Amino acid sequence: MKILIKNGRVIDPSRRINRVADVLIENKKIIKVQKNIKTKVDKTIDAHRKIVAPGFIDLHTHLREPGEENKETIATGARAAVYGGFTTVCAMPNTVPICDNAAQVQYVLDKAKQADWANVLPIGAITKKRAGKEMAEMAEMQKVGCVAVSDDGDEVADAKLLRRAMEYAAMLKLPVICHCEDKNLIGKGVMHEGYWSTALGLRGMPSEAESIMVQRDIQLAGLTGAHLHIAHVSTAQSVELIRQAKKKGIKVTAEATPHHFTLTDESLQTYDTYHKVNPPLRSKADVKAIQKGLKNGTIDAIATDHAPHLQVDKDKEFDYAPFGLIGLETALSLAIMQLIDKKILTWSELINKLSCNPNRILRYDRGTLRPDAVADIVIIDPRKKWKYTKDQIKSTSKNSPFIDWELKGKIETVLLAGKICSL
Ligand SMILES: [Zn+2]
Repeated sequence: MKILIKNGRVIDPSRRINRVADVLIENKKIIKVQKNIKTKVDKTIDAHRKIVAPGFIDLHTHLREPGEENKETIATGARAAVYGGFTTVCAMPNTVPICDNAAQVQYVLDKAKQADWANVLPIGAITKKRAGKEMAEMAEMQKVGCVAVSDDGDEVADAKLLRRAMEYAAMLKLPVICHCEDKNLIGKGVMHEGYWSTALGLRGMPSEAESIMVQRDIQLAGLTGAHLHIAHVSTAQSVELIRQAKKKGIKVTAEATPHHFTLTDESLQTYDTYHKVNPPLRSKADVKAIQKGLKNGTIDAIATDHAPHLQVDKDKEFDYAPFGLIGLETALSLAIMQLIDKKILTWSELINKLSCNPNRILRYDRGTLRPDAVADIVIIDPRKKWKYTKDQIKSTSKNSPFIDWELKGKIETVLLAGKICSL
């Protein structure tokens, strides 16, 4: 099967390409990117006024399977991902049971293969049962296909254990993804500690609960030589610590979520539990710092932290509702509205954060339109306006604070390994 994508603006930061061109695909692979390709093909896609880019890679997705299939399954999550332009998602290990051994990693891969939507790359736990007591079998998990390790949802509180895990991960060249949060310091906090937590009478979580752990983990990365990847950076201090660490040559990368560069703690005024997320929505100054960190390269990637939850759980009182929101289907539009339209990022920089850099962090082989690469491609209509309504959400769970928002920019077509997905 030969497919030709005609006249799109091809943006491939991995090869510094940003120009109108055609993309020729044969079977699973990209053949070439060139102007005016003339050849007989089975299908032509007109991409005039559209953007053609490598498929996005989400470093941070909660798929809930096994164990909580009523919230999301690997199949429904991998499908929702494609609707959002993500051709690859990394599945966090905090499922039931925890993905902390080779058999669980294999289970995720098998389910993803059956589903036949986005590629799913399993992330294994750092510690057995994510209990923070004993290291998980990283080498065994890696052999089967685990791409990184993380106890996401919790920090590895024991610094000595994390040091050992980092030494081991460094040997295996596995990124260690840290959820930076001092549990004692946040206590029973439910939102960012500041003016709004006082005004609303909700218990606060200080910014320092994040940055203290960011600092500790950076120092341990320096000590061990491990590749530390910091999940969902949300505070100005964290951005500054990461910037300094990078300057010193410490192997650290970082991601930020669309909700952390879009919303502030002020939005909690409605007490809407869809805005309850961890790390919490922060102050205006923090949002500005995240945006600046994306611009100057301190923050390498945009990741969703897609966290499906049931309506019955989100309907609870604010103190008791679970943390988290879904984000796969809104990430691109929020990035266009908050980063492109506000002239914080260029299109090439945005595609870099969504595709090329996540690929580099994982040492994976996607995130590019180079000849012979697997044809995971997105075609974007950057100007299309649409309303994000509840009934069009593809994820099983509907916990998004962006429901009924007027959004801009939409995924038109997705090719998964050279196959056109019908969206
Ligand atoms: Zn987390």
